[in-house]
Amino acid sequence: MKYIGAHVSASGGLANAAIRAAEIGATAFALFTKNQRQWRAAPLTPEIIDDFKAACEKYHYGPGQILPHDSYLINLGHPVEEALEKSREAFIDEMTRCQQLGLKLLNFHPGSHLMQIAEEECLARIAQSINIALAQTEGVTAVIENTAGQGSNLGFKFEHLAAIIDGVEDKSRVGVCIDTCHAFAAGYDLRSADACAATFAEFERIVGFQYLRGMHLNDAKSAFGSRVDRHHSLGEGNIGHDAFRWIMQDKRFDGIPLVLETINPDIWAEEIAWLKAQQTEEATA
Ligand SMILES: [Zn+2]
Ligand SMILES: [Zn+2]
Repeated sequence: MKYIGAHVSASGGLANAAIRAAEIGATAFALFTKNQRQWRAAPLTPEIIDDFKAACEKYHYGPGQILPHDSYLINLGHPVEEALEKSREAFIDEMTRCQQLGLKLLNFHPGSHLMQIAEEECLARIAQSINIALAQTEGVTAVIENTAGQGSNLGFKFEHLAAIIDGVEDKSRVGVCIDTCHAFAAGYDLRSADACAATFAEFERIVGFQYLRGMHLNDAKSAFGSRVDRHHSLGEGNIGHDAFRWIMQDKRFDGIPLVLETINPDIWAEEIAWLKAQQTEEATA
C-alpha cells in the first residue's frame, strides 16, 4: 500500500493540515508543526493537540502516514558551540511537539559545516545531536533527508547518511527520507527506469531500505549534478515522469509517506491522482 500526499499548509491551525490533505485526495501528508522560519513557537495546547488528533482520525491519517518537517534554521552540525546548542534545543522542541501530537517521524536536513570544520567532524556532530534528542524524547524517529549539496550542506551523498546513522546509538529511531530532486541535483541519475534501479541499488548497498522512512517526490528545475535545489512539478523538470512511475511500481516504497513538495499546489490533486494511477502494471504501457 502506497501512502501518497503533499506538504500542506498548517496555517490557521495544525488540524487544517489534515483537512487540506483530505481535500486533495492525499493518503499521506507533511507539515510544519511551527513556523519554519522562526526559532520559537508557543507550546502546543491540549486543545491544539486534540483538534489535530481528531482531524487525523476523521480523515484516516495514522502516524505512519504523516511526515512532519522541522525548521530550516536548525543546523545540527553547526561548527560553533553556542549556535550548535541553540539548534539542539530547537530540535528537541520539534521532536517533543511531534511526540505530543502522537506522531512517529520528524524529517530534517542534516546540517552544514559552514566551511569551518571538516565533513567528518560535522557528520559526527549531527549524529551526536540526534543521540541527545533521542535521549530526551520517546517514540519519535529522527528522519534525515538527503540534500542537493548546496553551499556547505551535508547529506548529498548516501555515504553521509550512512555515516550519521553509524554514529547514532539507537538505530531503531533513526531513518532517512530521500528527496528525488535533491538526489538528482546531487548527481544520482533518475531519468529512466534503469537509472532509478541503479541509484536505488546504490542506496540499498550504502544505506539500506530498512532505514527508508519517507520520500519527497519532486521533479527538478535544476540540472543533473548541479548541487542546486530547485523543485519542479512532476514530469515538467529534468527528471521526467519515468522515475515517479518506477517508484510507484516498486514495493520497497510501500507503507511510508510519499510526499510532494512540487511548486504548484493548484495541481497537487492531479499529481496525486496520477501517482496513484501509476501503481498498476498497465501504466508502463
Ligand atoms: Zn526538506
Ligand atoms: Zn524535500
